[in-house]
Amino acid sequence: MRKSIFAGLLILIVSMATAQTPDIHKIRSYREQHENSWISQYLSFLSIPNIASVPSDMQLNSGRIMDLMKERSVQNIQLLYPDTKNAPPAVYGEMMVPGAKQTIIFYAHYDGQPVDSTKWAKGLHPFKPVIINGPLQEQNEFIVFSNTVKINPEWRIAGRGSSDDKAGVMAILLAYEAMKACGLTPIYNIKFFFEGEEEAGSTHLNEILQKYESLLQSDLWIICDGPVHQSGKKMVSFGVRGDAGMELTVYGSKRPLHSGHYGNWAPNPALQLSKLLASMKDDDGKVLVKGFYDKVKPLTLTEKKALAAVPSVDTQLKEELGFIQAETKDQSLVNSIMLPSININGMQSAGTGKLASNVIPTTATANLDLRLVPGTDYIEQQQLIEAHIRRQGFYITHEDPTSDERKQYAKITKVTLSKGYNAQRTQMELPIAQKVIAAVRSTTKDQVVLLPSMGGSLPLFLFEKYLSAKTITVPIANHDNNQHAENENLRIQNFWSGIETMAALMLMK
Ligand SMILES: [Zn+2]
Repeated sequence: MRKSIFAGLLILIVSMATAQTPDIHKIRSYREQHENSWISQYLSFLSIPNIASVPSDMQLNSGRIMDLMKERSVQNIQLLYPDTKNAPPAVYGEMMVPGAKQTIIFYAHYDGQPVDSTKWAKGLHPFKPVIINGPLQEQNEFIVFSNTVKINPEWRIAGRGSSDDKAGVMAILLAYEAMKACGLTPIYNIKFFFEGEEEAGSTHLNEILQKYESLLQSDLWIICDGPVHQSGKKMVSFGVRGDAGMELTVYGSKRPLHSGHYGNWAPNPALQLSKLLASMKDDDGKVLVKGFYDKVKPLTLTEKKALAAVPSVDTQLKEELGFIQAETKDQSLVNSIMLPSININGMQSAGTGKLASNVIPTTATANLDLRLVPGTDYIEQQQLIEAHIRRQGFYITHEDPTSDERKQYAKITKVTLSKGYNAQRTQMELPIAQKVIAAVRSTTKDQVVLLPSMGGSLPLFLFEKYLSAKTITVPIANHDNNQHAENENLRIQNFWSGIETMAALMLMK
């Protein structure tokens, strides 16, 4: 008993000694004096529409970011254009520190997911940002914002990009402002890189990285994107899953048939597709495609330890999401996402509801999403699934089947492959990774969640491929931010904490 009290005290003293350094207190009190001005600047930035496919909007956004940088005396501000015309530029700026031997680049993206403003809750609009009095409910109170209103950190800013990922851009620039205003100097050179095409698949990022290779040399990229852990604790993530798509269409008769006259006799593509999909996973969520897990790179001891320390949010999440059993029955969420997966994103075959009719459908289609982990290659995984489909007795075509093919094969699937990319992971054991962990820990008394890989996918492999660069993701947004959907929002406390996190990373030892 005494021993455990002593141990507890020791842990407390150690964590108090490491958490919330004097620098962070300086950053915090500077922020407290500037909250209203910062929120007002942020609301104004969010009111610029940011869909990557609209060049004029992207011009306004990149111009605004350059202004925000100029106001903070960032050096060497410039737009990095890819060679492809009309593609949005990345916005670049830097702070070169005399005597610094290493460089950190801070990454965030200023474009957002496409929007349908009619789906947003009453009073909300993607590009008319507002402040609401807490998490989104049936009825929210709207805050009348002014330069004198006392800001409650539980309030939320609602608008497209508020969390994903203009929050990253703004938190990084405000952290920089606070750091300089407080007279704090980093020991690393600091560079900023704000992408304008992430939600559109980073199609031209490779061009930018290659064209500006020498400008973008660094020892580490800090990727500020995505939500913190569902427990609300700060998080550092060392990798992302890869992603690739596949669409399967199974064929029945050439024309729809009356289900009374022909049911039981004519082949039913909806049933065939269901059986095919069901053959890919067992009842515990394990993929049954031969070889699917063979090349998975095993987790290191450090990674396993980090995973074991992740607070479990499974019960809370099941409650929040309304189901009682996970697909991978005995596996936690965090362990499940360390494995490659096949997900069904959508299925279609004839009609249901008002469109239901008594027919045997002519086709059935499923859209599959493959998530990759280190060691697995997306093309190989797609090939393994194709081999599995063949083993189930299907003939595979990549076009609609011809009459000859229909005469020759009983079961036909058209497979449409989409391009994807592989997973990426930075080793947690690297000295620079350990410094990142220490920096984030210096901002909080709470545990910092360390994840070998996040569930989501980002094309981080590009940084490794073109710049041989290391990447570590440090997200700041709340997990219930409606990212990519209507009513996207950012909890203001996450914004404040995120600014402290970014400042600590700039001041990393
Ligand atoms: Zn994002």
